[in-house]
Amino acid sequence: MKQCTHADALPDPEPAPLGETCPECLRDGTDPVQLRLCLTCGHVGCCDSSPRRHATEHHNRTGHPVMRTHEPGEDWRWCFVDHVLL
Ligand SMILES: [Zn+2]
Ligand SMILES: [Zn+2]
Ligand SMILES: [Zn+2]
Repeated sequence: MKQCTHADALPDPEPAPLGETCPECLRDGTDPVQLRLCLTCGHVGCCDSSPRRHATEHHNRTGHPVMRTHEPGEDWRWCFVDHVLL
């Protein structure tokens, strides 16, 4: 299994969420299915089941490697670079 080195380089404590919902969806009038939190900068974006996939777009734009779920009761993280759950 591939090792992810990105998680070790994340800010600690993790950044506070920049908003309650996906700001790009708010702007465009699309509905997020689920929310993801960027662990580098606190950007909140929508998941890959959402129409516009803004969390992935954020990664593609910024290179920020790891997000975690921003859903209540869930605590998994995902590395966009290594494609592994953390
Ligand atoms: Zn990684
Ligand atoms: Zn969105
Ligand atoms: Zn970010």
